[in-house]
Amino acid sequence: MTHAHLTPKVSTVEAIKYLRALVGESFVLTGALDLKTWGTDWTKVYEPKPLCIVLPQNTAEVSKIMAYCHENELAVTPSGGRTGLCAGAVASEGEVVMSLSRMCKILDVDSTGLTITTEAGVTTQALQEAAKYIGLFFPLDLASKGSCHIGGNIATNAGGVKLIKYGGTREQVLGLEVVLANGDILDMNVGLRKNNSGYDLKHLFIGSEGTLGIVTKAVLRLMPKPRNLQLAIMAVDVFEKIPKILTECSLAAVSVTAFEFFTQVAHKIVLARLPGARTPFAASSPFYVLLEIEQPGSEPEMETLLEKLFDQGLISDATIAANSTQFKEFWGLRENITESLAAHGQVRKNDISLAIDQLDPFVKELEKLLTKMSSSATNGPASDAMELVLFGHIGDGNLHINYVSPKERNPKEFQVAARTIEEQIFKLLTKFKGSISAEHGIGLTKKKDLHFTRTAQEVSWMRQTKRLWDPKGILNPGKIFDV
Ligand SMILES: Cc1cc2nc3c(=O)[nH]c(=O)nc-3n(C[C@H](O)[C@H](O)[C@H](O)COP(=O)(O)OP(=O)(O)OC[C@H]3O[C@@H](n4cnc5c(N)ncnc54)[C@H](O)[C@@H]3O)c2cc1C
Repeated sequence: MTHAHLTPKVSTVEAIKYLRALVGESFVLTGALDLKTWGTDWTKVYEPKPLCIVLPQNTAEVSKIMAYCHENELAVTPSGGRTGLCAGAVASEGEVVMSLSRMCKILDVDSTGLTITTEAGVTTQALQEAAKYIGLFFPLDLASKGSCHIGGNIATNAGGVKLIKYGGTREQVLGLEVVLANGDILDMNVGLRKNNSGYDLKHLFIGSEGTLGIVTKAVLRLMPKPRNLQLAIMAVDVFEKIPKILTECSLAAVSVTAFEFFTQVAHKIVLARLPGARTPFAASSPFYVLLEIEQPGSEPEMETLLEKLFDQGLISDATIAANSTQFKEFWGLRENITESLAAHGQVRKNDISLAIDQLDPFVKELEKLLTKMSSSATNGPASDAMELVLFGHIGDGNLHINYVSPKERNPKEFQVAARTIEEQIFKLLTKFKGSISAEHGIGLTKKKDLHFTRTAQEVSWMRQTKRLWDPKGILNPGKIFDV
């Protein structure tokens, strides 16, 4: 089985034989468990059916693999740490999965120019640790950092918890090396801070979800370590106060390094599922905000800010992390939501974004919509219950909406029920000029919804761009849109 627009010119046996001769016998995997494991990502909705998994060890091998697949019309799905949340790395139609896992060397660290040069298969956490080792800081940070690769981060333009202060992946990339569909190696790896000499092509590949080229190397920005981070967790009774808290942070001129939120139900699920998790609050609250600031001077900026927020009635309770253990514990309450939800039940995920001033009006209409939908729904068995769990990088206008049902529920029915609500939410989102994907991407799961966010004209230019760089359509076909 393969994509309809491709006519493979070699048999599966011949392709595997060629690839084995190229990268070595043990670096082309064809066992049933390998195909299942490497042919999917975190979503696990689509049945993985890759042709094989190939693990090149350098750019030259990636280039030869691409040239062979191009000539023989074999589809290729690039694969990073497979933590993607929209089935971008899923290979369900006989694709060659190209994993960059063996390309995991950090090549250079420059503490004067503040750059780190790395192969694409290095994990985000390894880059953070390398920067820390020489007294610097790599700001990209997300709960999946131990598994996701920088190549995957670049291909998805990952956001994460520090975007509010440092920007997302795009802002960290100074240079890129990419292997194109035909095997050509495109070196945009200059790594200069300033370079206004014509089109900056690297940006085309950032966020392209493996549809335009294989990222093999990157030069990334480093920065001085933040000084004296303070972390507080706050209880908030109504959602509309959350954007107001953000405004107060700006007016107080504090340097916010993270501004995250989660609902009571998200908190409850983490407390139930995460071993050792504790809440710092005596009473529960509808919403919680995790605020991290940099407090370089001797002024107790966090205390002063929290007092002001109390006085204004914007928060009902708050605790500042007193030591590094509590710091980790508080972050754990936010960072373990995705994994706790997965352990709790079946989950369908949305990852929407809005302008900050549209958050509150949107949430108010969302509440009305959900009340209307639940009152018109018939009362089914308890196993059919569905909870909506909200959390996210609210300081960036990013809301993760998760539909969660018990594991016993029929999975197909669950997807249909969640989809019904999701469609209504996307329609509502259009009214507020929001995006259906803030940071996770489109992949397979959201491609039918691209029109909610992008105009037909925009999608037409995307298609033309795809045809230009990958005329045969072999790179991650079917992802983002159909050509
Ligand atoms: C617990 C958890 C928390 C998360 N938190 C966040 C978060 O805060 N912010 C956020 O943005 N995301 C988050 N994610 C989603 C995910 O971690 C990111 O999308 C991440 O960037 C994916 O990287 P990966 O290496 O796992 O890529 P994969 O899942 O392997 O692939 C993702 C996409 O990139 C392509 N790709 C992978 N490597 C390459 C390459 N070298 N060249 C070209 N294309 C490539 C794939 O084909 C696919 O389309 C989270 C996921 C989990 C499970």
